[in-house]
Amino acid sequence: MSLSKDFVSSCLTGVADPVRGKDLVSSGALQWVSACDTYASIRLQMPDGTGRSVLDQVAQLAHAKLSQVAQRNGTRVDSFIVEFVDEAGTVLHEKRFGGMMPAPSAGASNEPRASASGSVSSPESRSDRPEAGPTGAAAPGSAGHTPIPGLQPANRPAGAGLPGVKHIIAVGAGKGGVGKSSIALNLAVGLARKGHAVGLLDGDIYGPSMPTMLGLAPLEQAVLNGKLQPFYIHGIKAITIGKLVDADRPLIWRGPMAHGAFKQLTEQTQWGELDYLIIDLPPGTGDIALTMAQSLALTGAVVVCTPQKVALDDAIRAARMFQQLNIEVLGVVENMSSFVGDDGKVYDIFGKGGAEVMAQRLGVPFLGSVPITMSLRANSDGGDPTGNFTGSDPAGVRLKASLEALVQNLESQLALGALRSGREKPVLTIS
Ligand code: ADP
Repeated sequence: MSLSKDFVSSCLTGVADPVRGKDLVSSGALQWVSACDTYASIRLQMPDGTGRSVLDQVAQLAHAKLSQVAQRNGTRVDSFIVEFVDEAGTVLHEKRFGGMMPAPSAGASNEPRASASGSVSSPESRSDRPEAGPTGAAAPGSAGHTPIPGLQPANRPAGAGLPGVKHIIAVGAGKGGVGKSSIALNLAVGLARKGHAVGLLDGDIYGPSMPTMLGLAPLEQAVLNGKLQPFYIHGIKAITIGKLVDADRPLIWRGPMAHGAFKQLTEQTQWGELDYLIIDLPPGTGDIALTMAQSLALTGAVVVCTPQKVALDDAIRAARMFQQLNIEVLGVVENMSSFVGDDGKVYDIFGKGGAEVMAQRLGVPFLGSVPITMSLRANSDGGDPTGNFTGSDPAGVRLKASLEALVQNLESQLALGALRSGREKPVLTIS
């Protein structure tokens, strides 16, 4: 049995809210639950001024209760994150239990550890790291790529799948800035909200945006038994190159280095069982995007573009790149297809509908369009992708509907693809 939202919530009805005097659910403290496999996270709202020791005590009690009931039901809790917010929604404190704990301090164990800057370092001297050039770029090692220190070497042939992962979907774009990462993230969160187990790999080495978009700043990358532990956040498991390199140092990647780092991220992350692994590829159709797209057995690719003519030309190149690699283009997404004001009024700033025409011309599905909204930008900057699915103002409702339609259309294309490839047989129901 794996943990579910309902299971976690029902366990929390047995934990007292020490401030309001009821249990954590009926007191209204429980605001949000996310669960999959043996991972769960919750958000609890506490009255302003609640002391840190009380918050820690509540988190301990919640963890103890969940672990106890889970054990009785034949499952376990590998990771449990409790986030405390105040009445304005500001995060007050976070308590983590299990695999997502910050790694032990240096010298305490032989485990590789994550540094305060987020980069993974091994317990050995850092002099065994690849040499850093003047820009902070690591020089390629003898194997032709930069190993992420502390991880076990992987010996997986190029183009293979990942054990336990059913579908690997790459999200690409002809150029940067069109919202590729935003769409990758919202597809991942949208699929997770439908109950799927989802992983997200931020492979955009030129500008990894997931640390910001997922709100990972206060969290440290953990490595256990030579495997990167994904962050379990917003209902998805996520890993990003942005937590493995120093954020304030620009990196100049050469092809083999980038490929090596990408290989390590994909293969040496403890993904567990996933229905979908969404990969945010670097933009463009250069060597790096191409090699990354080839290095895994992808179920298919999604191409993101904006409606302007110049952007569409780039997107055509991206779609053709996937087709030439024999990767099925599951669909095209038109992002920023119009601006929706808070009042719900629609302005076609960049035009509209161009991507649909382009998809028809290429003979690939059109998955839908996503408007520009202030809330999507704000939720991305604020690390709250869940907010894109919960807006109640006219623009928020429209954004949610467009994202849910994207997810639905992607699932339909995957189902059609499975039928076409013979992986699944059609079921005829006669009533
Ligand atoms: P890319 O991955 O293609 O470089 P990003 O997803 O990082 O693009 O998006 C670039 C910026 O545009 C980010 O600040 C993001 O929040 C914003 N953005 C992307 N799509 C939208 C949208 N539909 N509405 C509002 N802002 C958006």
